[in-house]
Amino acid sequence: MSVPRFIRVEPKFDTFLNTTRPPDLIAHGFTWTEGPVWLDGALYFNDIPNKRMMRWTEATGAQVALENSEFANGNTLDLAGQMVSCEHGGRRVIRRTDPHDAAAVEVVADRFEGKRLNSPNDVIVRSDGSIWFTDPPYGINSDVEGYSAESEIGGCYVFCATPDGGLHAVATDFEKPNGLAFSPDESRLYVADSGAIKGASFPGIDYELPHHIRVFDVNGTGLTNSRVFAVVAPGVPDGFRVDQEGFVWTSALDGVHCLSPEGALIGKIWLPQQTSNLCFGGADGRTMFITSSDKVYRVESSRRDASHVLSQCERNT
Ligand code: MG
Repeated sequence: MSVPRFIRVEPKFDTFLNTTRPPDLIAHGFTWTEGPVWLDGALYFNDIPNKRMMRWTEATGAQVALENSEFANGNTLDLAGQMVSCEHGGRRVIRRTDPHDAAAVEVVADRFEGKRLNSPNDVIVRSDGSIWFTDPPYGINSDVEGYSAESEIGGCYVFCATPDGGLHAVATDFEKPNGLAFSPDESRLYVADSGAIKGASFPGIDYELPHHIRVFDVNGTGLTNSRVFAVVAPGVPDGFRVDQEGFVWTSALDGVHCLSPEGALIGKIWLPQQTSNLCFGGADGRTMFITSSDKVYRVESSRRDASHVLSQCERNT
């Protein structure tokens, strides 16, 4: 059965989501959706291969917000409530001072020790204003989601851009680091490794390679005590979010998996296509928006994002 639905593993799953109505398909007709973020009463997301950013509201549906997004991928908000985006085309992380103007950007990071980044993929902001992002090669290993090029750095790192302008490689031993999020108290950092994906898209998955989320203890820009938090299958973890109680909501080949703070599967939002990411938003911050291949879904929940930065932005709007 290929109908979107919920798969309960633990009874508490029914208290997390409104499971009485199926996931609501709110927008479709894209190629590969990513980067969902709630900003100023609307859902913004990227349609990466078509180099455009969309804006969705209940009243308007999905409309083009930005015609040339330069293959932008993950989005988040900074302390001032401005959008921060990972841009494959420009191989950089940028701050958008106007999300409807492709030229209204400030560069957060584009080089490490003089070498161009690969293609920043996903990004989060800590409550101290530091900007953390991953840098796998999906935007340079073909022309589908960027421009083919060699890696100058020669590795796929996790970076932290500090408010003083510094750029620190905080983890250098990932195959392909992807989504990332902090625990509610920001003492731990979760990072997905989607190394099991072969090539630029999804012609196949090599389960001998990483398809898991790792967790670290955080001390300033230092990460210690690396361990595997959860192996995700089928598929790989791409984008994910941590909720107010430390439950991890991760994308996978078959939708969204809910994992306990200990890494146990609590339930799934089963979707028929490869799923890339999700965010919490809506008027009360408790609506989950899910980007899944060419579609976007909505699920009502009792959850909200653990991020202090995102909840601060919400209070300000
Ligand atoms: Mg990603």
